[in-house]
Amino acid sequence: MMMSMQDKIEGIMESVRKHHDLYRNALPMIASENVTSKTVRMLLASDLSHRYAEGEVGARFYQGCKYIDEIEEKAIVYAKELFGAEHVNVKPISGVNANIAALFALTASGDNIMALSVPEGAHISHAKYSVPGIRNLKLEDLPFDSTEMNIDVDAMKREIKAKKPKLILFGASLFLFPHPVQEARAVADDVGAKILYDGAHVFGLIAGKRFQDPLREGADIVTSSTHKTFPGPQGAIILCKEELKAEIDEAVFPGTVSNHHLHHVAGLAVTLVEMMQFGEEYATQIQSNAKRLAQYLYEQGFDVLCEHKGFTESHQIAVDVRSFGGGDKVAKDLEKANIITNKNMFPYDKAPENPSGIRLGVQELTRLGMKESEMHAIAALIKRVVIDEVDENRVKDEVIELKNNFCHVHYCFDEGDAYENPIL
Ligand SMILES: *Cc1c(COP(=O)(O)O)cnc(C)c1O
Repeated sequence: MMMSMQDKIEGIMESVRKHHDLYRNALPMIASENVTSKTVRMLLASDLSHRYAEGEVGARFYQGCKYIDEIEEKAIVYAKELFGAEHVNVKPISGVNANIAALFALTASGDNIMALSVPEGAHISHAKYSVPGIRNLKLEDLPFDSTEMNIDVDAMKREIKAKKPKLILFGASLFLFPHPVQEARAVADDVGAKILYDGAHVFGLIAGKRFQDPLREGADIVTSSTHKTFPGPQGAIILCKEELKAEIDEAVFPGTVSNHHLHHVAGLAVTLVEMMQFGEEYATQIQSNAKRLAQYLYEQGFDVLCEHKGFTESHQIAVDVRSFGGGDKVAKDLEKANIITNKNMFPYDKAPENPSGIRLGVQELTRLGMKESEMHAIAALIKRVVIDEVDENRVKDEVIELKNNFCHVHYCFDEGDAYENPIL
């Protein structure tokens, strides 16, 4: 029998409804995700999502952009204010898109750049099979100390002098401690290297004046997603020095974006305002929650990396779970109990399929109002699944009970229910 249009649409709606139910009843601990405020969610459904506004504020290729200009201008002004940036571009539609634009703006085919490898924490867009590959760049290793889970500063300085890279790429996806931007600056100047800091994971912490301040420490350019610790709509942003304005803007439009996503720009502007007001309180709570979760897990018998240096300064913690079957098995077992995490490669891993670890992020739970005592409860739930091997369905009931008190978005002006949606 043929399915009617109504049935097909109802089928899609039913999947979305189930997705919402899953997240209402789950602990979302993927380190790259977050929830937006009600205002932002409503803006994402505004007429802005239908429009085109190619070009710059005040110089568009289409008519009808009068108010879009006002919105984009506000996003730029608020971002400059919050991050102390000389120039801002809010058009890239994802973090990878921002990295493509930045790397095309700052390098030429055949140049060498220095970056981390993926097992050491780099994002795929820093690796040869992504942006550096399509730009035909030669990748030099940024030396990494896997005991400290950070860049080895002395070796880095030596390597910059020896390899004379055109660009040094900081920032990571497994990102526990601030990168040595300041230490690289003087040496970079000696060899004429630019510094690009990819802040995708930690942008909300930077907004809250925590973790590090890459522009003041010497980065020429900062790229970032706007939806990880920075709790805005999906999208990206580039901050840079005034002298790079022309190259960056051209690399974004017309280089790598035609129409940017105007509803996301409006949502970004609102999130910037939220972070001006609540950013410090939010970032402080994230750091405290991450440290506490790490400490509790460590006390329960987990091999949480970097105990000797307080586990983490970011929203993430890294747990080696080889003795419990590896990252793939553990992440899947936790999912059965509605604890959503991801397997993660660590520096000593070779294959991405079953890596040693899991990565846990607390930024979204923090945005939903969780504090230190909830971190304690979550550590106990994780132990029950992974170490005690209790039936996941029993743990799931406890997860649901805990989570149902934390469905409202905090650190914003309209603390709505994150999963409520009028059409579902
Ligand atoms: C997530 C991430 C990106 C890519 O962001 P998208 O918005 O998913 O394209 C870039 N760099 C780093 C370090 C990341 O972690």
